[in-house]
Amino acid sequence: MARVQEPSFRKSVDMMFEKAVSLMDLSPGLREKIRVCNSTYTVRFGVKLRGDIHTFTGYRSVHSEHKEPVKGGIRFATSVNQDEVEALAALMTYKCALVEAPFGGSKGGLHIDPTQWEEDEMERITRRFAYELMKRDLIHPSQNVPAPDMGTGEREMAWIADQFRRMNTTELNSEACVTGKPLNKGGIAGRVEATGRGVQYGLQEFFRHPDDIKAANMSGTLDGKRVVVQGFGNVGYHAAKFLAEEDGALITAVIERDGAVINDKGIDVEELVAHMRATGGVKNFPGCEYVENGSAVLEKDCDILIPAAMEGVINLSNAERISTRLIIEAANGPVTAGADDVLREAGVVIIPDMYANAGGVTVSYFEWVKNLSHIRFGRMQRRQQEGSNILLVKEMERLVGKPVSEEFKAKFFQGAGELELVRSGLEDTMRTSYQSMQSVWHSRNDVDSLRTAAYLVSLDRIAGSYKALGL
Ligand code: GLU
Repeated sequence: MARVQEPSFRKSVDMMFEKAVSLMDLSPGLREKIRVCNSTYTVRFGVKLRGDIHTFTGYRSVHSEHKEPVKGGIRFATSVNQDEVEALAALMTYKCALVEAPFGGSKGGLHIDPTQWEEDEMERITRRFAYELMKRDLIHPSQNVPAPDMGTGEREMAWIADQFRRMNTTELNSEACVTGKPLNKGGIAGRVEATGRGVQYGLQEFFRHPDDIKAANMSGTLDGKRVVVQGFGNVGYHAAKFLAEEDGALITAVIERDGAVINDKGIDVEELVAHMRATGGVKNFPGCEYVENGSAVLEKDCDILIPAAMEGVINLSNAERISTRLIIEAANGPVTAGADDVLREAGVVIIPDMYANAGGVTVSYFEWVKNLSHIRFGRMQRRQQEGSNILLVKEMERLVGKPVSEEFKAKFFQGAGELELVRSGLEDTMRTSYQSMQSVWHSRNDVDSLRTAAYLVSLDRIAGSYKALGL
């Protein structure tokens, strides 16, 4: 298998880092300080379940503490290992710097197949893992703030937050120890959809730049573009939904664990997700061609390919056969360093993970700020804004002598609530960060990709933060 020639995920991230850092004027010592993973804690803990003790292995890796708290999700999967959490923690450092979320990078993982355990068993396992991390301040509002990742969601975050509160009964800011919580447990509106929404905003911004569209050998807008989505979990589903419903893109294939479904006229995203909920997979979804070997569908001709599941799915064994113009990395590390070279030489533009999936941590940042301020965004301003808009329209109507349409009034009067503010903050973040990496890509001859440009922006900020300390 060609995969064996490739370095590990951690090494692949390092190779991309080295490529970018070689274009910077940083001392070898500072380069190394930024590159290395500061610490990785491994814990093996036992939980008594089904009449016996079961031992689980978990990790929390801290890549960089140039800013604290450090931030990054907790993954529950059988693929979890030390190399993976370290690679993902490094990506969190670079990602946070790129989108100006004031955090260092961290990541956690538990080696488990969540489908093998009942809900109450998962709760006991999660609380026990959280307890082990909390004992060492690896979950803490001012030290280390986890979030959902593959195999975890609002449910697990609620258990973690509750566990922290039980262990820190007098801590006023305990809700800020983790993000991605349910709305009624200190969460924020728009967090669940945030990563998918960020992918949509990222693509919208890409299509505002004629040079970039041309670089990808495309023309026009998102309308009618053929999109293949790999992984229909929270991120892939939301990205596909927003692109189809709001931007007119055609979701021509969805690849899942049990195979892929194809429809060149466009797949109905809501119907597919309902089918998956009912049957557990994409197989037998009406109106679509079904292909059992899902990964072969990554090679289907399309305009935009969205890998939204695992790392390493586009690698040296399939890179040459990928037939798309643009890849947006909704997952972390879906394209290996080797495949990245092959695709770039073939003229495929890649919008890199550290930017493309940063919507999640961006809204996590808003949630953390909300938890620390103990007030919902918009609570103070909403009615005031509404009142002054009403006043303005009344005065306009008086001056012009004509009424303003009811449709306009309904839209204009509404002051921004939390969801509108979160979306506005996320959109601004995605647009600004895109522009910062895009301008480096186009202004420097030695920068051959958006990925290297993203690293340069990010590493420059991290280096600046170390230099400010006199290091
Ligand atoms: N797990 C997500 C990521 O990889 C979110 C992290 C966070 O919100 O802290 O970016």
